[in-house]
Amino acid sequence: MAERRVQVTSRLGLHARAAANLVRVAMQFQSSLTLQRLDGNAEADAKSILSILTLAASRGTELRVVAEGADEQEALDAIVGLFSRDFDEIEKVNGERFYRATNELRCKGLGVSDGIVIGRVLRLQEGTHEVYRAHIADADLERERRRFRAAVRLSRRQLEAIKNRAEKELGRGHAYIFDAHLLFLQDAKLTRDVEDYIVKEHSNAEWAAKVVGDRLLSIYTQINDDYLRERGSDIEDVIQRLLANLTGESPRYPNLSEDAVIVSTDLLPSTIAELNLNHVKAIATDAGGWTSHMAIIARGLGLTAVVGLRDFYHRTRTGDQIIIDARSGEVILHPTGETIEHYRFTVHEPEPTVETQTKLECGPVTTRDGVEISLRANVELPTEFQAVRDFGACGVGLFRSEFLLSRPGLMSSEDEQFEVYKELVDAAGEYGAIVRLFDVGGEFGPDLKERERNPALGLRAVRFALRHQQMMRTQVRAILRAAAAGPLSLVIPMVADVADIRLAKRVIEEEIERLASEQVTFSRVRIGAMIEVPSAVLTAEKIAAEVDFFELGTNDLVQYTLAVDRGNDKVSEWFRTLHPAVLYGISRTIEAAKHAQIPVIVCGEMASTPAYAVLLVGLGAVDLSMTPAMIPRVRSVLTQINASDVRELALKSLAAATADEVEDLVKNLSLSA
Ligand code: PEP
Ligand code: MG
Repeated sequence: MAERRVQVTSRLGLHARAAANLVRVAMQFQSSLTLQRLDGNAEADAKSILSILTLAASRGTELRVVAEGADEQEALDAIVGLFSRDFDEIEKVNGERFYRATNELRCKGLGVSDGIVIGRVLRLQEGTHEVYRAHIADADLERERRRFRAAVRLSRRQLEAIKNRAEKELGRGHAYIFDAHLLFLQDAKLTRDVEDYIVKEHSNAEWAAKVVGDRLLSIYTQINDDYLRERGSDIEDVIQRLLANLTGESPRYPNLSEDAVIVSTDLLPSTIAELNLNHVKAIATDAGGWTSHMAIIARGLGLTAVVGLRDFYHRTRTGDQIIIDARSGEVILHPTGETIEHYRFTVHEPEPTVETQTKLECGPVTTRDGVEISLRANVELPTEFQAVRDFGACGVGLFRSEFLLSRPGLMSSEDEQFEVYKELVDAAGEYGAIVRLFDVGGEFGPDLKERERNPALGLRAVRFALRHQQMMRTQVRAILRAAAAGPLSLVIPMVADVADIRLAKRVIEEEIERLASEQVTFSRVRIGAMIEVPSAVLTAEKIAAEVDFFELGTNDLVQYTLAVDRGNDKVSEWFRTLHPAVLYGISRTIEAAKHAQIPVIVCGEMASTPAYAVLLVGLGAVDLSMTPAMIPRVRSVLTQINASDVRELALKSLAAATADEVEDLVKNLSLSA
């Protein structure tokens, strides 16, 4: 046996990356290698990263290294050498020594709502399912262990692939996180404990992995060192991955702390709908753009959000302190005390709340030259219904009903939907509400396992409804029944032409006949078409002859007219709402509706932006539907304009050649929101 005393001198102590290096060196020797704290508090196996981290050896900690075996002297020399070289982790990133725990990391994205929030990171990967305990019979125990080992192997392959990619795209400085994950995964302390648990407790592998993972996590939460305590999130990540691979499903959401800032690569709108929103303070995602559904929801709920942060997620750990500044689109990880102080003085709630507004007007707004404009609300979740009245909306111009399918693939029954639509009718009052048939597919995947290669151009919206008619019929029946309680209309999303309308209307007529023959109380509804793809714009006159109203979805109209994926941050520069081609589509649609004497409601995000709303009025729009919280601002701006003056602006914009030119024209408007 050989032993030597060492001291931890590196600034971050014996943290995950250092421990990973230590394990790698220790593994090269046959001898057993033990690390003992000189204060007698703990002892660790130098070949187990989990064990090393529980030493909580911060800077200055003294340890005894004990080696025993054939090559004990060489092993001891190698380990002591590694301590003296601060675990070989001096690494240059951008020419500087990289300390991710102490360096403030600023990242610029796109602020899609208002507000500044100081909170703690909660990393969220799209979703794991509940883990249940199952009893495994003696005869099946070996099979269960094999199943667990297979999940470990699969997780390892996935992590290796992620690590390689991270190395290429982010450099070794970031990829080390996955080294640590790989070591956790291979750590006998984890794998042996899970297998032992399976056998002793006759437990299924999922449950065993969860119990062992929870135990390890609880050890970490007790560690008296901030940095090391936070490494618990690495274990959490690995366990989640294992569980996902065991169940074949994705991980679910953890409990939220009071000041949770959700950090994710991409967040499904349905995930936001499922979160406990009392606790979520903000959202930061790698993907997304201004009109991605996640951004729309965040605005609707008044959540501070920054999207399009690209490779930010992998730099964070659950528990990290973070500042989200949606006004500038900046997020700051590990902010210094000074930065926090600075922001403490500027932190404020996202939107002016209703209480802070002195007098809130409601109903339509009139321009200075007497043109009346209806301001309606776009809502996604029943929790937003109250906002319709609070912000003085003329009813609900668009209910994005697909958010009722709060988890992908989970269907609300006819009765459940009926209750929600009835609530909607109550909330909307005399002006009524428009329910959009489920706009699933595209961003809102009904079954993520079957994601299409090009979902925006795939089986989305009305196409999905026509292909899955049972789902459509259930929804139509619920809408027709709720319409008996008050003014309710139905709009068909993403129609490409008259053929889509005719097919959809036939299904609706059949359900009307069925309800009548069953003697169920219902009422006929007005049927509208969402105009949001170029083919619908180009055949708008023909569609107008078949429907009661139009809804102009400017978000998709921009996406499809300019061929720019609305959720892809890499092409966000090309997503230009004020592009003359888009304005031409809007103008053409409004003219076709006027000609057919049917109303047209503009319900994309464009209507929520005061200066753009002015341009819409110039293009002839008199019915706008928007995020409820934006109604007071849009109202205020529209009271300052003459519709005839902004008509001039619209004509000049239509004649412009580029989005830049239109933006310049709009910037010259002097209006105060
Ligand atoms: C639109 O496309 O503009 C629209 C209103 O619908 P969504 O954003 O839900 O696609
Ligand atoms: Mg749309």
